[in-house]
Amino acid sequence: MTVNPDTNEIGFIGLGIMGQSMAGHLQKAGYKLHVYNRTQSKTDELVAAGAQWHDSPGEVAANSDVVITMVGYPSDVEEVFLGSGAILDNAKEGAILIDMTTSEPSLAIKIAEAAKAKGLRSLDAPVSGGDMGAKKGTLSIMVGGEQADFDAVKPLFEIMGENIRLQGGPGAGQHTKMCNQIVVAGNMLATAEGLTYARKSGLDPANVLKSIGTGAASSFLLNGLGPKMIEGDFAPGFFVHHFIKDMTIALKEADAMGADLPGLRTAKGLYEKVADEGAREDGTQALIKAYK
Ligand code: NAP
Repeated sequence: MTVNPDTNEIGFIGLGIMGQSMAGHLQKAGYKLHVYNRTQSKTDELVAAGAQWHDSPGEVAANSDVVITMVGYPSDVEEVFLGSGAILDNAKEGAILIDMTTSEPSLAIKIAEAAKAKGLRSLDAPVSGGDMGAKKGTLSIMVGGEQADFDAVKPLFEIMGENIRLQGGPGAGQHTKMCNQIVVAGNMLATAEGLTYARKSGLDPANVLKSIGTGAASSFLLNGLGPKMIEGDFAPGFFVHHFIKDMTIALKEADAMGADLPGLRTAKGLYEKVADEGAREDGTQALIKAYK
């Protein structure tokens, strides 16, 4: 089977900053959607455009050929997949389950094993590219699971993203996302420190950004979030509390592998400091507050 909008209906659970845009693209591509979210109002726009609301993740699964989740934490993933009356207990025979949340590799493996035991198929497929990448449909999607299952749902990934890669078996997508978050952590630290230096030295940080934003220091994060750090615009694209979750997972996995990542530990400590001082629900550019 390869998914297509004439024969397959899609379940989507978790319609927050990322999920709303991602599900919206699938809907515009012609897929009938079945939706559930903890806060129902966040599905209003999709429902007004034809999606069907259900009262539980299990009900979504019972009506869908492919079920996609984009919730917050590993505990949320566990609840919607493995809770009583949740996805695994209700999915249609042969359904493909795709978790796109940033979550734990070990949980992805646990879900894949539980799914297989029930004749279901599962992929872990976290994303990178931020809220703008989700809005534009340009996400990088890093996938773990079986090749045949990846091939079957690749048309869905191609609607939501541009760089789509199978990285290995169950959990490989989440491990790849951890690599991504480790690089993001270093980048965020470097951006905040470069801009702090610019300010302290009496330069105009916005003008400095124009110079360094195209040289060897250039990056997606420097150019995307640097201006927000300078302007003090802390509206969330990616929540501080979600990034702390990611760094916690990456450090736990690194410890288990015997990899020492002192830069990541430093970034996590600074993010925890700004979160404790009230920036939990800010966007990750709020790291600059640690330098004020
Ligand atoms: P978000 O806005 O908080 O969206 C998550 C949504 O899932 C929320 O609407 C939440 O409901 C819902 N949810 C959580 N637990 C649930 C449950 N047990 N049952 C039903 N619904 C549940 O966060 P987001 O920014 O879209 O991020 C989602 C995931 O993607 C996170 O793991 C994050 O780390 C990752 N991610 C985010 C970005 C980004 O730039 N934002 C980029 C890449 C990856 P409520 O509305 O009630 O809270």
